[in-house]
Amino acid sequence: MMMNYYQLSSKSPNPETPDKTWFEEAKRTILCKGCSSARVTGQPVDVVLQTKPDRSALNFVHGVHVNIAAVSLLEALFPEGAENVLGLGRVYGPDRTMAAEFRTIMKQDRIIVRGNERSTFRVCPECHRIWYSAIGKRYILKQDIGAAAVFESQSGNLVVAEPIAQRVIGGKWRNLVVQKLEVRDEPVDGLNVPG
Ligand SMILES: [Zn+2]
Repeated sequence: MMMNYYQLSSKSPNPETPDKTWFEEAKRTILCKGCSSARVTGQPVDVVLQTKPDRSALNFVHGVHVNIAAVSLLEALFPEGAENVLGLGRVYGPDRTMAAEFRTIMKQDRIIVRGNERSTFRVCPECHRIWYSAIGKRYILKQDIGAAAVFESQSGNLVVAEPIAQRVIGGKWRNLVVQKLEVRDEPVDGLNVPG
């Protein structure tokens, strides 16, 4: 039987704002010149924020598409050690003080959480990252799953296999939304998204 997958996302996210100096430096180094997002390398990214991180269990840094997770959430999801599953970077707040209870996450395994026929996508000409904007009921395609149990979605959420999701379902995680994804054989968006 096919494994079930869940999307972990942030409800009403209050995205983090990158520190201006860090952002200018990052544009010259780790950010794609085409879409200004952190390149998907599997290498963790350290970020400097303008303010202390919001208390959300999951969040992202506006404009650069770096995702942030609370250490407590990572420990619950991955008791075997999140560092064995995800690339983990450091999060710094004002005056470059480390926010030790948060990490940036990076996963080279990517999956597109797709939607209906009103969904759209574009491909970054520089880094070839697919920017998919999902509308309607979300699902993933069986052919996209492969052997991985943990993905970052191209829209910046985590997608995890059911046994992992069960570790946090029912927990009190600030702003965290855990949503079961349908697994489909064929897309219903009518889009020919490159693999
Ligand atoms: Zn790009």
